[in-house]
Amino acid sequence: MKANREQTGVVFNIQKFSVNDGPGIRTVVFFKGCPLRCQWCSNPESQSTKVQILWDTKKCVHCLHCIDTCKQNAVREVNNEIHIDHKACIGCLECEQECPQNALKHEGDTKTVQQVLNIVKQDEVFYEESGGGITLSGGELLMQSEFACELLKACKEENIHTACETTGFASPDVFLKVIENIDYVLFDMKHWDTQKHKEYTGVENTLIKENIKQSIASGKTVLPRIPVIPGFNDSLHDAEMFSQQFKELGIQRVQLLPFHQFGENKYSLLNKEYAYRNTTALHKEDLIPYQNIFLAHGIEAFF
Ligand code: SF4
Ligand code: SF4
Repeated sequence: MKANREQTGVVFNIQKFSVNDGPGIRTVVFFKGCPLRCQWCSNPESQSTKVQILWDTKKCVHCLHCIDTCKQNAVREVNNEIHIDHKACIGCLECEQECPQNALKHEGDTKTVQQVLNIVKQDEVFYEESGGGITLSGGELLMQSEFACELLKACKEENIHTACETTGFASPDVFLKVIENIDYVLFDMKHWDTQKHKEYTGVENTLIKENIKQSIASGKTVLPRIPVIPGFNDSLHDAEMFSQQFKELGIQRVQLLPFHQFGENKYSLLNKEYAYRNTTALHKEDLIPYQNIFLAHGIEAFF
């Protein structure tokens, strides 16, 4: 059956010319919505599946016009700050359009498969030359599985190479359906221990491990990636345990992603607390002993 190109989904960014999200030059489509709540998340605006309004304190002059504009009573001023009640907000964008200072902006746009594809196809010549294509990222594409499936199907109809960056957190039947049309799976592995995984991300890793097994068994090219986070999974014991589990799964390569604070500013725009505000970023040099443990197990660990 042909792809339904009228299927809609919510995306919060489409980034062209990426060289870090799969082979070659790629266009990355960021899906909104994620079932995990990683405390270090660098895209907190991706967590909700809804279109969200962000408030910029530096631009706001407190005219309170946004409060008068909102018919849903979703805007309030609390302690000299503008707060959006994201549960009440319906994403009509009227407050953004009416703000005289451009202090409000939205994250997330509803798009059809065809609209996304039109943007992705603009760079087809670069994909052909570099071995690139499209990468579905997020957020978590599995949260919008119908949209993901139709978009991937449409890409295959157009002979575009497909990759995804996934947490792998979904029921195995949903997961298998989505990866059917994916050539290359970048798989986020946060922690080897189930309880610690739950404590820092809000969910256990049982389904995730099951799904990485499924991806390997189905013959996909799979690259696990570990965001190495201080105090969470950065000890040498963690590297040892990851290595042992990867060996059991038959994984031969892993990418290490040292912790950074790129998303810090977005937390204040969303009126959210950032748990890693005072945590120092990691660099490749800091993780050489960590990397060496994987290498000692015969696993190619790289940055
Ligand atoms: S309308 Fe804009 S400038 Fe006025 S209070 Fe709201 S966010 Fe601030
Ligand atoms: S987007 Fe619409 S519903 Fe949401 S806060 Fe603004 S005016 Fe209110």
